[in-house]
Formats: sequence, structure tokens, C-alpha cells
Amino acid sequence: MSKWENNVRRVVPYVAGEQPKNQPDMVKLNTNENPYPPSPKVAEALQKISIDDMRLYPDPAATDLVNAIAEQYQVKPSQVFVGVGSDDVLAMAFQTFFNSDKPILFPDITYSFYDVWADCFRIPYRQIPLDENFAINPADYAQENGGIVFPNPNAPTGLALSLDVIEEILRSNPDVVVIVDEAYVDFGAESALSLLGRYENLLVVQTFSKSRALAGMRIGYAIGNEKLISFLQDVKYSFNSYTMNRTSIALGVAAVEDEAYHQQIVQKIVETREWSKEELKKRGFHFADSSSNFIFARHETIPAKELFEALREKHIYVRYFNKPRIDNYLRITIGTREQMQKLFDFLDRYITAVSA
Ligand SMILES: *Cc1c(COP(=O)(O)O)cnc(C)c1O
Repeated sequence: MSKWENNVRRVVPYVAGEQPKNQPDMVKLNTNENPYPPSPKVAEALQKISIDDMRLYPDPAATDLVNAIAEQYQVKPSQVFVGVGSDDVLAMAFQTFFNSDKPILFPDITYSFYDVWADCFRIPYRQIPLDENFAINPADYAQENGGIVFPNPNAPTGLALSLDVIEEILRSNPDVVVIVDEAYVDFGAESALSLLGRYENLLVVQTFSKSRALAGMRIGYAIGNEKLISFLQDVKYSFNSYTMNRTSIALGVAAVEDEAYHQQIVQKIVETREWSKEELKKRGFHFADSSSNFIFARHETIPAKELFEALREKHIYVRYFNKPRIDNYLRITIGTREQMQKLFDFLDRYITAVSA
């Protein structure tokens, strides 16, 4: 090993779900993307993008997008922080708010970026085991810590926490920042935004990647009290001022202004999810009740890894995590009804073949 390697910041990176080349028969249910296109207003806004403007830096404050989000959620623009996907917002929030020698707390089964950021930024952390039903017990979070983060609904379990439970966690943690990662909240959980008035240490993070069908444009945001947001901005401007490009800002504004379309595609996904739960049950799957745009399921006899590989061979992509406690589960994103039907047709053939 060369001497300079002693000074390298070594990290084990996050592994994102596979993005296979577009195969004509592909059914992609592995990264929780939205199966519907973004709002037609986004397409209109794209037509108006000026090539000449690309010479110029974007607005570092992304003011138009911040204002549109503030308007939609009825908060002040000074309570909104935007970033390049909520991954960027969360990473920035870890750096800004998790700056204690005490460990931050998050569930053992959760978004697998949290421990990666904590390691990367040298933040001590403690992973709190979910109970045997994959539920978060709020009492586990009433211990000394340097901050708290969890998704609601949780990923990859899909289980939602009630607002009462979130408030219990906030009540026992007035001295640290509590981040609620609401990447999937639109699909069936109650947002913690309504608690902002009472808890100045609460940061709510959301994204355009899932319910607004804009994963490719990388738009995320945080809403919190003005002091939290200004601390986030100080860190962001100490790092890179021009993170969000002009196109993302313009298309993000168009997306957030079309709330009717947003509700419409969310509703379709929720209906397909409820139907898919019944279809999976009929075929011998067990799962915690999902409030999200995915179902985290295990089969009563077929090992998840085997099923994952058989599906993949047929270009049906789902997510498999080779990790303790969850290595017999598949995370299946809710696609269109037609996509889900292809999955169920495959399962019928496969289950018949293995039990013959
Ligand atoms: C998808 C996801 C995110 C990040 O999504 P972005 O595309 O970066 O906005 C954050 N948290 C959870 C739990 C997610 O599943």
C-alpha cells in the first residue's frame, strides 16, 4: 500500500438498485420509481427551456422552486430548502445537524443510505432494532443521542407511523434535531408538517422522485423552522452554490403547481397497491401492510433470492437485499396494473413449476 493511501477517506458506498438498459419486455419494479409520466405541465415547461440561458449560472437559491413549494405547503419560503434529490438534502442535513459526539439513532432496517452518510461524515450512530413485526417502538428513541432520523413510511418495510408516535419521539428529544424522511408520505402516511409549529427541532424531508414522477430530474426539499433552514443553507453555500440546474428548477415549479395531476397518479398507484396486496396473498406471500408505493414481501415456501433471480432472468426487476433479517424478502415497487399482471402471471407459472 502506498503511503498516501493512509490519508484517504475510505468509505463503503451505498448501492443503488440496478438501472438495466431499456429492454422492450422489461418490467422495472426495483427502484420505487413512478410508472406514470410527470405532469403534462412539465412537458410544456420543458418546451420553454432556453438554450441560451444555459450559458448562465442558475439561481443558487432556486427561488422560483422554493416559492412554489412554500405556496403548495402553506409555509414561508424561508422555511424551505431545496436540493438535488432528497439524498442531497439528507446528506446536507446529516452534515449540518448531526455534529455531536453522541450517536445518532435510526432503525436497523431502514433506508440504507443513513449508515453510509454517517460513516462518510464520521458521525457515530446506533441502529435500533425494529420489533418482530418491523414496527418502530418510540420508547427506544428515549435515550441519549446526537440526533434522530427515520423514514415515514419506513423503507423498505412500507410501514407507516402514526403522527402520535412521531410526536412522542419529538417530545422525548427536544435537544436534538429529528429528521422525518417522507419520501413516500403521499402514498398513505400522515405528514409531520403539521407538527412544525410546535417543534423547532423537526426537519421534514420530501422528494419529487416518487409521487411526482421526476426521479431523473433530482429534486428534493426540506421544510422546517427558519433557523434550521438557514443553518442548512450555510453548509450548502460552503460546499457548492449551484447544485440545482435551471431545467430542474423550471420543471420542478411546473410539477408542484399541478397538484391535481399529482393526486391523480398517486390515487392510481394506491389502487394498484391494494389490488396487488390481494393478488400476492392469493399466491402465498406475507408482508407488513404497506402505506407506500412498494410491498416488502416474503413467500411462504420459495426463498426470496431464488425468486429474485428467476424474475430477473425474465426481465422482471424487483429489489433484493442480502442483509440480516430481510434476506428472505423482496421489495416490489407498484407499477401499472399491466406491469403487476405480468409479475403475477410469471408467479403463477413459477409456483406451479416448483411445486410440481
Ligand atoms: C428514494 C428515497 C430517498 C431519496 O430520493 P431522491 O431521489 O434522492 O429524492 C430518500 N429517502 C428514502 C427513504 C427513499 O426511499
